Amino acid sequence: MGLSGHCLCKAVTYTVDVEAPIITGYDHCDDCQRQSGSSYSLVVVVPKAKLSINGPVKKYAGKADSGNTVHRWFCETCGSPIAHEPEAAPEIIALKGGSLETEQKKALKPDTEIWCASKLPFVQEKLAKPFDHMPQ
Ligand SMILES: [Zn+2]
Repeated sequence: MGLSGHCLCKAVTYTVDVEAPIITGYDHCDDCQRQSGSSYSLVVVVPKAKLSINGPVKKYAGKADSGNTVHRWFCETCGSPIAHEPEAAPEIIALKGGSLETEQKKALKPDTEIWCASKLPFVQEKLAKPFDHMPQ
């Protein structure tokens, strides 16, 4: 069946030829808070080679808290974040979970939290696998 999604304006669409994500979780890094405008990002990690993306994607490259460059993909038309692509792990890409088709995002089972070192103090989430930084 695979995964699929789109940005707010639907100019950008994507499909991922996988049965299930590698990791589903929350990213509490400061950059994700700023890009999403929210307390953390819902991230759905998939193999980059399985992703097909269409539409006007724009990319912003910045240094992550880890010191490595992360490319943040967003829709050029509506600005919705679509994914982030860490150079430190070139085989994967982290889709922004909120961009998945509605029924697919309802079925997600987040179990991992990363960058808990910058988790905002009022966030109540406590998933099974928390990491202060990145999983090793
Ligand atoms: Zn858009």
